Amino acid sequence: MGKRDYYEVLGVSRNAGADEIKKAYRQLALKYHPDKNPGNKEAEEKFKEAAEAYEVLSNQEKKARYDQFGHAGLGNQGAGGFGGGMSMEDIFSQFGDIFGGDFFGFGGGRRSSRRVNKGSNLRVKVRLTLEEISTGVEKKIKLNKYVSCSSCQGTGAKNGHATQSCSTCRGSGHVTRVTNTILGQMSTSSPCPACGGEGQIITEKCSACYGNGIVKAEEVISINIPAGVGEGIQLSMGGKGNAAARGGIPGDLIIQIEEAEHPHLTRDGNNLHLEFFLSFPEASMGTNIEVPTLDGKAKIRINPGTQPGKVLRLKGKGLPSLNSYGRGDLLVTINVWIPQHFSKEEKAMLEKMEQSPNFRPDPDSHEKGFFSRMKEYFQ
Ligand SMILES: [Zn+2]
Ligand SMILES: [Zn+2]
Repeated sequence: MGKRDYYEVLGVSRNAGADEIKKAYRQLALKYHPDKNPGNKEAEEKFKEAAEAYEVLSNQEKKARYDQFGHAGLGNQGAGGFGGGMSMEDIFSQFGDIFGGDFFGFGGGRRSSRRVNKGSNLRVKVRLTLEEISTGVEKKIKLNKYVSCSSCQGTGAKNGHATQSCSTCRGSGHVTRVTNTILGQMSTSSPCPACGGEGQIITEKCSACYGNGIVKAEEVISINIPAGVGEGIQLSMGGKGNAAARGGIPGDLIIQIEEAEHPHLTRDGNNLHLEFFLSFPEASMGTNIEVPTLDGKAKIRINPGTQPGKVLRLKGKGLPSLNSYGRGDLLVTINVWIPQHFSKEEKAMLEKMEQSPNFRPDPDSHEKGFFSRMKEYFQ
């Protein structure tokens, strides 16, 4: 709740280009960098806020989702919801990717050239009823995923400390090769082949996870799904995916929304549709009906002489908008049931009706009712 607009955080306009966004973030990151503001909680928060904004706005897919749905599109909405911001570790590893190691000049981006493992993303589908979509819902989901191994604290080494610094790269995770070319000496740096770029070598593997630092386990996770989502929308929970091998950064949990069919109502954006059949006498003489809505039944008065095809609007009985105020409407289309079987007696009745001029179709006289039909609103 109360999350600031990402564009506002970075102080750029909504149509700012990638370079402008990067430049704005760079300035904020410099200003609020923890090395420059030791012990300053407010600066740290601003630093994190800017990093999160940049993380989204620099990613085409996330930016598009944010532009369309705001924070809710990223699953950032509501208490106990998704995201929960980035860890400092995430942020510093982001720096290396964006600015290179020497960008800060004071203590660097804190990024070592050691490789950090990243856990894979986990995808789940969540099926929701229209009632759940209408109010938003908390779902508990059982995941079978990789979690950090508790026997070795995720290190992969027996008891968590059977490691030693890699002698090939002296713990740096990379090796530099100098080659002579016609242009002179050239040095190239590549990940250390001995330790796979991690800088550490495990001397004795943890037996619980065979040295991977992760094990498969069942985890029950609670997901707050905001109201107004729809079929195909994806929400992501940062860091709730698979744990990474040997103490890396966990992947994300991607939640794909599926919409269950409702027995009576169909959805069209934020509006709902219902087809309701009246009997011929009901449509002729008028009646009171009850229609199903997402929160119980609603009573509607049907005026005498109601024609099939008439649409009654129940304002605000549709679905909420994912990222703004207000709700859609429930549109009830009236249909009239024509009897298909009748008794001799009924047939005689119908034949009698047929003789009456009142039962002869006269759509022209009904036209004047068309505009008042459009104006009719029901609560
Ligand atoms: Zn090495
Ligand atoms: Zn282990």
